[in-house]
Amino acid sequence: MIIDACLLIINLYFMSQQNLKLDTMRHSASHVMAAAVKALFKDVKFAIGPTIDEGFYYDFDLGKQTLSAEDLSKIEAKMQEIIKADLPIKREEVSVKDALKRVKGQIYKEELIKDLEKEGKKKVSFYSIGDIFDDLCLGPHVKSTKEIGPFKLLRVSGAYWRGDEKNKMLQRIYGTAFATQKELDEYLKMLVEAEKRDHRKIGKEMKLFTFNDLVGPGLPLWLPNGTVLIEELEKLAKEHELAGGYLRVKTPHLAKEEMYKISGHLPYYVDTMFPPMVMEEDNGQKVTYYLKAMNCPHHHMIFAAEQRSYRDLPVRLAEYGTCYRYEKSGELFGLMRVRSMQMNDAHIYCTEDQFASEFLAVIDLYLKYFKIFGIDKYVMRLSTHSKEGLGKKYIDNEKLWLKTEDMVRNILKKGKIPFVEVADEAAFYGPKIDVQVWSAIGREFTLATNQVDFAVPERFGLVYKDNEGKDQTPICIHRAPLSTHERLIGFLIEHYAGAFPTWLAPVQVKILPVSDKFLEYALEVKNKMFSQGIRVDLDDSAESLGKKIRTGEQEKVPYLLIIGEKEVTAKQVAVRQRVKGDLGSQDVDGFIKQIKDEILNRK
Ligand SMILES: [Zn+2]
Ligand SMILES: [Zn+2]
Repeated sequence: MIIDACLLIINLYFMSQQNLKLDTMRHSASHVMAAAVKALFKDVKFAIGPTIDEGFYYDFDLGKQTLSAEDLSKIEAKMQEIIKADLPIKREEVSVKDALKRVKGQIYKEELIKDLEKEGKKKVSFYSIGDIFDDLCLGPHVKSTKEIGPFKLLRVSGAYWRGDEKNKMLQRIYGTAFATQKELDEYLKMLVEAEKRDHRKIGKEMKLFTFNDLVGPGLPLWLPNGTVLIEELEKLAKEHELAGGYLRVKTPHLAKEEMYKISGHLPYYVDTMFPPMVMEEDNGQKVTYYLKAMNCPHHHMIFAAEQRSYRDLPVRLAEYGTCYRYEKSGELFGLMRVRSMQMNDAHIYCTEDQFASEFLAVIDLYLKYFKIFGIDKYVMRLSTHSKEGLGKKYIDNEKLWLKTEDMVRNILKKGKIPFVEVADEAAFYGPKIDVQVWSAIGREFTLATNQVDFAVPERFGLVYKDNEGKDQTPICIHRAPLSTHERLIGFLIEHYAGAFPTWLAPVQVKILPVSDKFLEYALEVKNKMFSQGIRVDLDDSAESLGKKIRTGEQEKVPYLLIIGEKEVTAKQVAVRQRVKGDLGSQDVDGFIKQIKDEILNRK
């Protein structure tokens, strides 16, 4: 375990070096793509072309024209030409005035340059590819087009300029590039697999969730099968949280504006919150409410509801709290980007002395969950402050930052937890840890965040009495190991390809009588299992056994129990397991005992 963790840290170090190289090359590929589009289409206007986690994109305004798959092949061919020509990529700095002249008519670039000017920039940089293309860009880039590795254009989609639906819809071409053909091939293979496992597709097939226009975009409706998943996950969380000394609370879905001003969410996060509701109270006074985007302030108020002594600490308050965030409609994506989410939230209020053990306990909880879900590749990303950001992006208390970051770092090292450190990405009130996991097919997801908060308790005046009777401010740990139901279930659908382990599966057992003659016994078996808390279904259709088995397999039910003449006589069932296939005939009671054990132990 020790060796593994160290190796992973070393690998991650090389990975981050490589990532920078890969990122630079992909960014150059996006410029080459823009150069190819320029060569092939008249009157194109260029927006932005950054890299993303798994490749790059560029947004184009092509007037009324929409790009087809055929166009993508043409663009790819042109890109090959440019790469082969080995054109130099050069940087040049120009004044804002010259820059505006240079991009004349390119309305998006003009807007970007004017914004840079507003930010106080006097000079901006351009990157040119030979003499065929020239773009406003911070860089860095590779030195020549020949350094661009094997690439592939993946798809076209619509994207609003600046992600705002009030703006024009542009066309975004996504692509990716790798250092070697082998890596590209592996990636493309993974994409094919990911498409088969697409959580939106499987969610529909398995009747897990749906969306409805009357309810609104980004607001998932959980169907009975999906609700089984939710309830099993909550059961898992509640068991572990109870054992970990958490107390459960319940809080309303909205609160007054004033509270979010104290917490600091307003005005900073106003764009990600639903618009305010202004109410007139009985006394004629106007009061503004907001739907909650976070559960923290409500929990802080519960901490403040009683006088606390050092003897009461740590106080761990847990809630599956529903939060609402106003994601732009262009950014909504299945369950992964939604506007309402149920969060596996908790806030731990502790003394400085208790911080290390509390934080480690949270990390331990993550590891327990990873084991249950068979997640064997994960990394914790520790985001720290930056000196320059103090007083602006971050609470102005350098000593406290350094001390807390050191505590977190030491805990991770001591616990042999693989982690990478990223400067200048902390939350405004303390360092944070993003937990990244890889699904069974090797796709990366950011599941959840832990945050250390040494500022907000003070803003709310939260205190406890120390052993001398003096008021002290507690440290608060925000944590959500099981993420939100939406994000976690989106991940689990891909991870398991919908074939959930028995404890999670919406239907755990399906009984398939060979014909109507055996229906009575089948019903008897069903009732027996049902009374034992097993989620069991009976296929009493007139279909052939072969068809019934195929349907059960498509539904990814862990166990199919076949009942024919032989089984009725022997009072048995013929067991067919999802992975292992035929397991032969078993006594009903024996089967029930075994499956209950499997469910209880979440095997
Ligand atoms: Zn660029
Ligand atoms: Zn919180």
